[in-house]
Amino acid sequence: MFDWLIVGAGFAGSVLAERLASVRGEKVCVIDRRDHIGGNAYDELDAAGILIHRYGPHIFHTNSEAVFAHLSQFTKWRAYEHRVLARLADGMLVPMPINRTTVNRLNALSLTTEDEVEAFFSARAEAVPEIRTSEDVVVSRVGRKLYETFFRGYTRKQWGLDPSELDRSVTSRVPTRADNDDRYFTDTHQFMPLDGYTAMFARMLEHPNITVMTGTDYAAVKDKLSFRRMVWTGPVDEFFDFRFGKLPYRSLVFQHETHDREWFQPVGTVNFPGEEVPFTRVSEYKHLTGQVHPKTSVTYELPAAEGDPYYPVPRPENAALYKQYEALADATENVWFVGRLATYRYYNMDQVVAQALATFKRIETAVPRTGDE
Ligand code: FAD
Ligand code: UDP
Repeated sequence: MFDWLIVGAGFAGSVLAERLASVRGEKVCVIDRRDHIGGNAYDELDAAGILIHRYGPHIFHTNSEAVFAHLSQFTKWRAYEHRVLARLADGMLVPMPINRTTVNRLNALSLTTEDEVEAFFSARAEAVPEIRTSEDVVVSRVGRKLYETFFRGYTRKQWGLDPSELDRSVTSRVPTRADNDDRYFTDTHQFMPLDGYTAMFARMLEHPNITVMTGTDYAAVKDKLSFRRMVWTGPVDEFFDFRFGKLPYRSLVFQHETHDREWFQPVGTVNFPGEEVPFTRVSEYKHLTGQVHPKTSVTYELPAAEGDPYYPVPRPENAALYKQYEALADATENVWFVGRLATYRYYNMDQVVAQALATFKRIETAVPRTGDE
């Protein structure tokens, strides 16, 4: 008899498993249908011995002291600031997010102050009465030409939708800068787990009260395991047998390659905003991990309609459908829904950790500890 069954061994499930086991002393069973822990953040050595991320590049960044301190119990860190270049159709490489260097290189200009760059943007920005969509966000800031160069094609490939059909929150993830800062993120903490994500998850789950069963689907064991309460981190619509219809998730195909040379590209990720190639970006892991190796491994990301659910698709009709599932989830006793798929939110890793820690606090208030009931 377990106190808790946790479905999913990603950040949501693993953070909660560790808290329930070590703080409340409860018996926890964590299952995952995949053959490994770590969820989408899973990393492993490939055939050449290079540490790669099976589900695409994961860079940890957060402004939350609490999240950083929490994870620091399970890993040491390697300082890493991610840099991204966009490769245009003519082969030109320019910084992404758009910054002063991007504007200067693209237009053969030599703007030197932030005011000059802001004036450049303002002269091109389109008046948008209400910023609603992902197109509005960009054209209202930098105008249509830069939007078409960097955002329209990339977004169409990534989501199978035009930016005008997507919530503003999607392209709002990427800032526009008037200075020369070429970092992808500006969070106060930007690190990679020193020994990788999987090692960090293994330490989190290594507790006498935690049983981990990988290669185990919930449907196959739900009638065989006995447990009092559950944490669900899989897709919320799956839990309810798609009662209101399927929630759309965007998928990706990851094409992993090893090259017989030391370096493949100048930075961790090169984005391909144009529709002349089917992939959105190429990431080279040694930039992220600091691994020294005579060969190098990269991953191409090819967006796909079918496959594992990687991205909730932020648009109004999907939010409305999710609300229906959320109401069901709220009314389901003894099951806690946590994580990117279970709460249908386009969350980064740190946001999922924060959500799991907040859920743990709510459990502490609402659920008497086993033995105290
Ligand atoms: P997941 O990691 O998806 O874990 C859920 C687990 O539940 C899965 O392992 C799944 O197999 C399992 N599961 C589902 N249903 C069942 C079932 N019925 N039975 C058993 N098991 C089940 N975030 C960042 O902060 N930085 C980044 O650089 C970054 N890059 C990303 C790149 C890509 C390509 C993607 C897709 C995401 C990226 N993210 C990044 C987001 C990050 O992956 C997520 O925030 C995080 O992994 C979500 O954790 P989770 O536990 O909610 O879900
Ligand atoms: N985006 C874009 N061009 C880029 C980078 C991002 O159009 O070069 C848009 C695209 O819609 C993408 C979104 O901005 O899905 C968010 O980008 P981010 O890099 O945060 O995506 P993620 O890492 O979550 O896949």
